[in-house]
Amino acid sequence: MPAALLTINLGAIVANWRAMDAKTAETVETGAVIKANAYGLGVARVGQALQKAGARTFFVALADEGATLRKAIGPDARIFVFSGYMRGDEAVIEEFDLIPLLNSSEQALRFLAERHGEACGVQLDTGMNRLGMEGPELASILIHMPALNPQLIMSHLACADEPARPQNLAQLAVFNTMSAVFPTVPKSLSATGGILLGSGYHMNLTRPGIGLYGGEPFVDAQPVVTLSLPVIQTRTVLAGEGVGYGATWRAKRPSIIATVAAGYADGLIRAMDGNAQLYAGETPCPIVGRVSMDLITVDMTDLGDVPASLEILNAAQTVDVLAEAAGTIGYEILTSLGARYKRQYIDA
Ligand SMILES: *Cc1c(COP(=O)(O)O)cnc(C)c1O
Repeated sequence: MPAALLTINLGAIVANWRAMDAKTAETVETGAVIKANAYGLGVARVGQALQKAGARTFFVALADEGATLRKAIGPDARIFVFSGYMRGDEAVIEEFDLIPLLNSSEQALRFLAERHGEACGVQLDTGMNRLGMEGPELASILIHMPALNPQLIMSHLACADEPARPQNLAQLAVFNTMSAVFPTVPKSLSATGGILLGSGYHMNLTRPGIGLYGGEPFVDAQPVVTLSLPVIQTRTVLAGEGVGYGATWRAKRPSIIATVAAGYADGLIRAMDGNAQLYAGETPCPIVGRVSMDLITVDMTDLGDVPASLEILNAAQTVDVLAEAAGTIGYEILTSLGARYKRQYIDA
């Protein structure tokens, strides 16, 4: 049996990166966030494609992700690490020339003691209360800043995907105040959502992630993934018969049911059953019964001919549409895409 096939369109990722870049002024650099294996799509291939397109600054969550990326893209690009200078990461940071985004005074002082003169950035918390130094903590180490000589001052917005939230302007104001003590250091505040909030949020460098991979809030993004699932078996069920675990769906009429080879073990989370569909070409066919670990059952009665495979992600049913059906967000659908798929890349 051919494996379920995940097709990743690198050309669409590059087009989305360029579209994000076009939303900011010429003087604003557009970076690329490729943490979590490039949101599940493959850090090496995505990193190489974006570098070829002109990206020079990348962001990852963990030092080990940075090492993988460095091996794929070579020495020229900058790779920043959001988790900063964690104990145990010192050797990886040095060997792979990674730039930690120092997020506490403890990290900053240890970095200064161990790696004085090496590149670093500073992460501020402007109201998300997740990572970075708040005002008093920053003030406590200001005296060391000339020695640290950071390349970047950054913070992250908590509500950027909701433009009307007052917290956006509040965080912007805090960022401007806190970062004023570094008048000459480049600054970065915006991920995908912040880029869409407008030029006041763009600073010197942006950090788009989800927008590159075709997800909201960048609604004009080109879809990046297609996921095609082979049909293993087709059967006719009689009116009144149940399908799948718990027999949660019962046929109201004689029905044709196709069983495809993927399930929640492949990231097609169980919460989507009852709401999502599989596509036979352009035609949506409802998922019926529970999503099980390796299998999904689909009502093909209205279609007639059952094709060899059905699509669960495509231009019609994007990661956001599927996420909505499952009560989650596109980010989670992407980063859950399983290891069992055969992966195929369309080159940029
Ligand atoms: C994940 C992340 C990003 C990218 O966010 P998107 O919403 O995917 O664009 C940028 N900055 C930080 C600090 C992040 O954690």
